[in-house]
Amino acid sequence: MATKIPYKMYLTEEEMPKAWYNVKANMKTQHPPFINPATQKPCTKEDLQAVFCDDCIDQELNETDEYIEIPEGIRNFYTNFRPSPLVRAYFLEKVLDTPAEIYYKFEGNNTSGSHKLNSAAAQAYYAKKQGLTSITTETGAGQWGTALAMASAFYGLNLDVYMVKVSSEQKPYRKEVIRTYGANVIPSPSNTTNAGRKILEQFPGTGGSLGCAISEAVEKAVTTPNCRYVLGSVLDHVLLHQSVIGLESKIALDKYGVTPDVIIGCVGGGSNYGGLIAPYMGERLQGKNNIEFIGVEPASCPSLTRGKFVYDFCDSAQTTPLAKMYTLGCGFMPSPNHAGGLRYHGMSPIVSQLYHDGYMKAVSVEQSRVFDAAVKFAKCEGILPAPESAHAICAAVDEALKCKKEGKKKVILFGLTGTGYFDLAAYKQYNDKTMTDYIPTDADLEKGFDTIPKCAVNEGLL
Ligand SMILES: *Cc1c(COP(=O)(O)O)cnc(C)c1O
Repeated sequence: MATKIPYKMYLTEEEMPKAWYNVKANMKTQHPPFINPATQKPCTKEDLQAVFCDDCIDQELNETDEYIEIPEGIRNFYTNFRPSPLVRAYFLEKVLDTPAEIYYKFEGNNTSGSHKLNSAAAQAYYAKKQGLTSITTETGAGQWGTALAMASAFYGLNLDVYMVKVSSEQKPYRKEVIRTYGANVIPSPSNTTNAGRKILEQFPGTGGSLGCAISEAVEKAVTTPNCRYVLGSVLDHVLLHQSVIGLESKIALDKYGVTPDVIIGCVGGGSNYGGLIAPYMGERLQGKNNIEFIGVEPASCPSLTRGKFVYDFCDSAQTTPLAKMYTLGCGFMPSPNHAGGLRYHGMSPIVSQLYHDGYMKAVSVEQSRVFDAAVKFAKCEGILPAPESAHAICAAVDEALKCKKEGKKKVILFGLTGTGYFDLAAYKQYNDKTMTDYIPTDADLEKGFDTIPKCAVNEGLL
């Protein structure tokens, strides 16, 4: 028998990547630029500087450097929670009785409970380096707000977190973790911004949305001196920071001579999956492998599988630059019975472009199947997964069962982005059997599509 691959493959701190991988350097078709809605022209660096940190903008616009150094100040913070383990899912393989080999990269071993700390660390570091005193952001499920609160505490920055109101009510303890790290939590919509006041007037009693919280956080950043806005997913520089997930996975798998046949991950804004696949996709773009890439989204928020590839706003108040992406419309609101996160209306422009060019596939799954898979996984692998991560588990299980049916011995790698300890209201619904599935009709989706801006770029006039 060949050397047995261990249950957990840990890298040493020395083996941690010293540079992020920029997949754009190998993309033949770059995604189209952000458009400034006021001028209808591509955003300049100056346009972006009012909102984002300078170093992040440079990374955002970098299409040429394959590797971008991870500054020592960030690598130091990374040792708080990295390297993360790559796990061979022997127990799950056994339960499924599959000939497939299953591996997962587990990013939930930190207090934020997710991969989001990888980019929070970088963005807080760059904000501090620029001499800023505060940053703002939004958070939905709360992992991003927690991650950024941790990073802000470490680097010494003030932080305002606009937290989607329903989520701040459903997850009071998540809010308390954020506050414990010293950040302010403002349930959104709030009356602290014009965007919030306007939405409250229009929809009194609304539970809020990510798009609305983004509008508030951006407004707060541009009206506060020495303050910038930071975003937890979607943008290219966030994907860049998340490439540490894929790089570590590849180093660990290479050590054992393992190459994945399929790489699966959940897609919300697309940063974790973009980061997981980055080095492998880079090879694929150069014709060096033939890996199958599968992004998994909720059937109730199906931006890749049923969205449109057009320019849209990143927020519901229509204040951000326009991004060309797969979108359900910036006014899209996921059904309130959707419990599992991944509720953003748009998708990372990089992931959108790769999908559009046929380099990756996407599937959507209903939440009852997602929770079936989550529970199956928890019982044998021990980790209670975040519902978001369970989308990837569900697709990986499907793939492994397909291997069993076809007698194929594929190597499956999936991203286990986080833990579900703050998602117990959703698990309660599942256990009480009150969880229902919701698949929007075409007519439902049309309402969202109606909120996509009618503008020169979308009419093909630019
Ligand atoms: C935020 C989050 C996601 C979604 O990540 P994207 O990078 O936006 O696709 C998935 N899983 C967990 C646990 C998260 O916190």
